[in-house]
Amino acid sequence: MPSCEKCWEDSYARWRENPEKDRMEHYNDLLRECAGNPCSPEEQAGQFWDEENRCDFRLVKINPTERKEREEAALTPDRDKILTWAKELNQRLLDMHPDLSSDEAKRIMFDAEKAIDRVMALVVIQAKEL
Ligand SMILES: [Zn+2]
Repeated sequence: MPSCEKCWEDSYARWRENPEKDRMEHYNDLLRECAGNPCSPEEQAGQFWDEENRCDFRLVKINPTERKEREEAALTPDRDKILTWAKELNQRLLDMHPDLSSDEAKRIMFDAEKAIDRVMALVVIQAKEL
């Protein structure tokens, strides 16, 4: 688990901007940058924040069943985020205008489009089920 959920979340945006570096490197950059001014305990705990105990609930002694339920609830994907991601992905692919002069390129694109259609349909179905 990342030590700071907020920086982990922000590292995703940076990675989207600059995919040359992997997400873990962006995350480590963020941790270094905010070393003198760390994120609040609430930001660090993110979806694992426990309002009652004012800390990451994974650090609180609670019974294992309750802990497991809370972890699962915290990790359940956010439906709106998934749909936004799927829409953005589609838009990005439409904007690519690849060079399709060779037959091989055409075949690769055709296969890729079919694979992407299947993934998109699956994402939308799963997001609706949430
Ligand atoms: Zn942070």
